[in-house]
Amino acid sequence: MKRTLSILGSSGSIGRQTLKVAEACGHEVAAITVNKSVELAEAQARQFHPRLVAAVDESAAADLRLRLADTDIKVLPGQEGLLEAASLPEADTVVTAIVGVAGLRPTLAAIDGGKRIALANKETLVCAGELVITRAREKGAEIVPVDSEHSAIFQCLQGRRDRGAVRRLIITASGGPFFGKTYKELSLVTKEQALKHPNWTMGAKITIDSATLMNKGLELIEAMRLYAMPPERIQIVVHRESIIHSLVEFEDGAILAQLGSADMCLPIQYALTWPERTAGPAKPLDLLECPPLTFQKPDPETFRCLGLALECARRGGTSTAILNGANEAAVALFLEDKIGFLDIARLVERALERVPVAGAPGLEDIFEADRAAREAVEQAVR
Ligand code: MG
Repeated sequence: MKRTLSILGSSGSIGRQTLKVAEACGHEVAAITVNKSVELAEAQARQFHPRLVAAVDESAAADLRLRLADTDIKVLPGQEGLLEAASLPEADTVVTAIVGVAGLRPTLAAIDGGKRIALANKETLVCAGELVITRAREKGAEIVPVDSEHSAIFQCLQGRRDRGAVRRLIITASGGPFFGKTYKELSLVTKEQALKHPNWTMGAKITIDSATLMNKGLELIEAMRLYAMPPERIQIVVHRESIIHSLVEFEDGAILAQLGSADMCLPIQYALTWPERTAGPAKPLDLLECPPLTFQKPDPETFRCLGLALECARRGGTSTAILNGANEAAVALFLEDKIGFLDIARLVERALERVPVAGAPGLEDIFEADRAAREAVEQAVR
């Protein structure tokens, strides 16, 4: 099945791999958006001929308009451009590959347009999961996960006839570059070490989240929302080899797993072609070349970000939006060399102590929680 895509965040790791899948499998590209990567956006536009290119940064959009003046491609700036790309009538599928809560409004716009959402923006479900899932159900918009763990679970659940027969979801975690380190050792790690993930090549924010294990906490919350599961029925298992991408345990004790090489092209492609499977560019897995598969317990005390995320998963309301907002702000400070590695968890914990949690939040409550969490982090650093 050929799809017509709008790719929100085409210059990032998932965006670029989506274009690789589109090229290999013959999907059309109707729109791409970037923040300010004008050179890459120009090259992508010339290769894929979308109808619309949006750059969130206004001066980047002005530059891009000049660069593409010899084409009939429409160039739009700002949030307006992003929202137009998300709801473009020509696109049947919107790939949400924007990082952070910035992906929330465009995801809702795509849902309102009844698009299939190939969801690669976990922060949207972490902050506003109930709201997004309810809206998607009302509008008849399909949400198909791109995150490798959630795609694995989604794949394991295909063909089941009884929803009640699922006992547990089991999410695998690589453990990141610092697995096994003590708290004291973590106080000495550098940004360069944190940015070196052992198995996956990803953007900077998610790579840091993988090093702190916040990523796994966010993924547990994402899985709760996607599969309507309470946190106590989701287990996290450290699996250093990243070959099993996640598993589902059924009531009779059977466990189904999805295996593959550490290549995001497969989950991206499946989100586009589901319920069909087609040949594509993902690197095949040779079982005879695999190392022995190992499974270990995560350590949410040493990796405090994971512990905090698990607490918020149980607490609900705006606590997950506070967790996420504080984490986004703290990771940005870490990437700017303004704080140390362990300060990320300290700042998130502090924001969770300071910002009041609201139950059953609406969209404005969620944005307010996000804003207040970022402010709490800024204040603590000052
Ligand atoms: Mg993942």
